[in-house]
Amino acid sequence: MKNTASRRKFLAQATLGSTLGLSAISSFGQGYEATFKDKVLHSSPSDLKITDIKCGYIRGGHSLFVKIYTNQDIVGHGEGVDATPGTYHLVKMFAQRIKDKNPLNVHRLFEDIRRAGFFEGAQSGMYIAVLSAVETALWDIAGKALNVPVYQLLGGKFRDRIRLYMDTALYQSRLPKPEEFAASAKEAVDMRFTAVKFDLDQANDPNKYDRYNWTASPAEIQRMYDQMAAARAAVGPNIDICADMHGRYDAPTGERVAKVLEPLNMMWLEEPIPAENPEAYKRITNSTSTPICAGENHYLALGFRPLLENGAVDIIMPDLQKAGGLGEAQRIANLANLYYVPFAPHMVASFLGAMASAHVCASVPNFMILEWQIYFHKNPMFKEIVNYDETQIEKGHIVLSEKPGIGVEINEEGMKKYATPDMPFFE
Ligand SMILES: [Mg+2]
Repeated sequence: MKNTASRRKFLAQATLGSTLGLSAISSFGQGYEATFKDKVLHSSPSDLKITDIKCGYIRGGHSLFVKIYTNQDIVGHGEGVDATPGTYHLVKMFAQRIKDKNPLNVHRLFEDIRRAGFFEGAQSGMYIAVLSAVETALWDIAGKALNVPVYQLLGGKFRDRIRLYMDTALYQSRLPKPEEFAASAKEAVDMRFTAVKFDLDQANDPNKYDRYNWTASPAEIQRMYDQMAAARAAVGPNIDICADMHGRYDAPTGERVAKVLEPLNMMWLEEPIPAENPEAYKRITNSTSTPICAGENHYLALGFRPLLENGAVDIIMPDLQKAGGLGEAQRIANLANLYYVPFAPHMVASFLGAMASAHVCASVPNFMILEWQIYFHKNPMFKEIVNYDETQIEKGHIVLSEKPGIGVEINEEGMKKYATPDMPFFE
């Protein structure tokens, strides 16, 4: 209530100022006057202050949603993923650090938080995943306060629509047959997507020699080829197909799989080996014409530097809900652009994270494609937990939101029934 009163006061002052301004300049002509009339004063930006951050968790705590409150009733919404369970007190610690500060100084607050842990940083993991959610919510506030979409704050857009690839999530159905790969690929194309991704790592493959060393047997590699060949045959030569190995295999297996898949003209082979060793990646990347992609578990631009400097990968795929937020994502993309490496973000978030990612994808020249999930179409939860515009998805693309801020907000009521038990929910 206090916030509402204070917001009304600001709006009243803004309206008064606007009215006085209009009478003073009326002699300058209708066009000039109309410009002022059309201007919506959403806030008094220089007086904005952060008052609180609250958070909630779903999906076993692996999806963190934050709301940042201000003294002018503008609320910022953000999302972090994966490295987020058990981070409630981290959120509250970040809140203490930025409370009473102006949320429009997004880069400065990002640095204030990043440096708050261990002097100059080298942070990663849950610390940066939570920072990503908070930083995203700051951009949302800034857009709403200044009445522009976030991409505009990031320097404007190169494109209006963000091309998506469909992640089929067939992995969950356990050792799918090649016919299922074909059907799934066809389904995505029927939905107007022009790119589709599959998982090739299968812990329960009966031809696996050992569940821990993950050296693929010849029969396993044949299974991978058969699955991807079925997908290629189903969609023809002009649809992009790609495959993920989730960093579970060793380098010789990575090389062999990349080589075997060459005739299928893949968009990429994703993380055949764990992504910490750029020299090992370089060995695979240099051995094959199949493009190699990695980076969903890297944090901050400094984390991507070794991959890029070593020529370790052909394509990078930071997850913008955990790699450091939207400003850091732009820095990562720009760094990659110096090496002529495409930027193809990983995305396992809600519509909120997807649209937040889309603003970054619009703002960089080397954007290639953004991940999209079949669960958006099959699991009603994803439509209930946020407020969004149905028309934002069209023919395998996100149509960039023109609303102030990100353009998608948390629906706290809708999210409540999915809240992770024993974790705080917007406290
Ligand atoms: Mg992956």
